[in-house]
Amino acid sequence: MPKTIDVEKLSIVHYPHPVLRKACQPVEQFDDQLRRLAARMLELMHLGRGVGLAAPQVGLTWRLFVCSHTGEPGDDLVLVNPELFDLTGVGEREEGCLSLPGVSVPVRRASSVRIQACDLEGNPFEREGTDLAARVWQHEHDHLDGRLIVDYMSEASKIINRRILKQLQADYENGQKKSA
Ligand code: ZN
Repeated sequence: MPKTIDVEKLSIVHYPHPVLRKACQPVEQFDDQLRRLAARMLELMHLGRGVGLAAPQVGLTWRLFVCSHTGEPGDDLVLVNPELFDLTGVGEREEGCLSLPGVSVPVRRASSVRIQACDLEGNPFEREGTDLAARVWQHEHDHLDGRLIVDYMSEASKIINRRILKQLQADYENGQKKSA
């Protein structure tokens, strides 16, 4: 694992921050820092009332995401180096993203998937998910390859979201100016 990270200082980065477009690297060290990072990501996810959060959304290009498809802490799940397979069925539903506040896009995804990942101790496990769980895993897995819900926008959806995307762009540019 690269540098030491102050996990308490991590916050959710918003579109169009370039880190959201990076392909993430596999996690190699299952250490205390990784566990503290996952705990912080779960905290940020719940604070934002989200159902998933991927490492690039806190500025780290690691293949890791946390989720709770019900939004309840009892369903918290941490997936390190996740791989999806056996994608079957298809369904469409509106999706939001903690990195794109206010944006909602109908996205077609497989309605059933299997996922293989490691837990925080580095132990591999496998799960099957349907409907919302399958959708959350596919959304979060997309983040690890730099893919966002805006990439699924139809022409109609682009028009609907045009103003909010412009605002996010302006907010990002203003933030850059302040930190420069
Ligand atoms: Zn997202």
